[in-house]
Amino acid sequence: MQLRAQASIATSPLEAVDLPVPEPGPGEVRVRVRACATCRTDLHVIEGDLAPRRLPIVPGHQAVGTVEALGPGARRFALGQRVGIPWLRSSCGACAFCLGGRENLCEGSTYTGWTHDGGYAERCCVPEAFAYAIPEGFDDVEAAPLLCAGIIGYRALRRSEVPRGGRLALYGFGSSAHVTLQVARHWGCSVYVSTRDVAHRRLALELGAAWTGGPSDAPPVRADAAVVFAPAGELVPVALRHLEKGGTVALAGIHMSDVPAMTYEPHLFWEKNLRSVTANTREDGEALLAEAAAIPIQPRVTLYPLAEANRALRDLAGDRVAGTAVLTLD
Ligand SMILES: [Zn+2]
Ligand SMILES: [Zn+2]
Repeated sequence: MQLRAQASIATSPLEAVDLPVPEPGPGEVRVRVRACATCRTDLHVIEGDLAPRRLPIVPGHQAVGTVEALGPGARRFALGQRVGIPWLRSSCGACAFCLGGRENLCEGSTYTGWTHDGGYAERCCVPEAFAYAIPEGFDDVEAAPLLCAGIIGYRALRRSEVPRGGRLALYGFGSSAHVTLQVARHWGCSVYVSTRDVAHRRLALELGAAWTGGPSDAPPVRADAAVVFAPAGELVPVALRHLEKGGTVALAGIHMSDVPAMTYEPHLFWEKNLRSVTANTREDGEALLAEAAAIPIQPRVTLYPLAEANRALRDLAGDRVAGTAVLTLD
């Protein structure tokens, strides 16, 4: 499913096209894709919130499938082994960020489904060093949402510095938040979920949220930490206002509408911290997958055939998906 030019998802801009089978380059493997989860970032790439890095492009950066060909020098995975393809496709490996354990900030990084063709396809190539082995307990469609929704949510949770057993507020309750809540519950946190969508509130309660409400409802407690998942800048002062002194708000998205002007007190004084989350390191990914398998996390998925990618993304844009919309291949 290929995008030729950025456009509103309402116009069904993804087209089914026949492309040549991609050849894996040095150190790459070619994956026969079985499932690819959708992500709000795909919408940002398709609709133009993110500048195009390559067009035409095949979006998709949460693909699960089996290795079917090895490029020159590739030896990490065996043919037939199940792997996951994430957003971060490569980093330079030589800059101060890469050498300092912060490859997510590398200026020379590339991204699946943005700079290189991604997983909304039957086949996709990935550098083996940036692919993940998929834990056995997950089937393909359950594993797919872990690869970005899971990993980014996990990094956001770590960046929020929520203490074990602490009070965590989540703003927005889409794909990433519904996985993150499960990790937070495993850490013994009480989770307060703010989302305008009633079906999302229901899912949050089902998964163990202590409270749910809308953006204009004050949560019953001040949170030790918060993660803002919704790409809505107006939620930033809301999250800060309801934060405990010394707490941290982490912004999980790659794109956000403008943050409105804030007042020093009550938004930032009292040593409140505000931080963003930029992609992830491979260490985040390995840690999330190991913890997801141990918990075990159970992503809620709604399945769509790959050919209906436009419809899946329209449902995502309209907040009509509880959990994660996952594209499947026969
Ligand atoms: Zn680098
Ligand atoms: Zn994503």
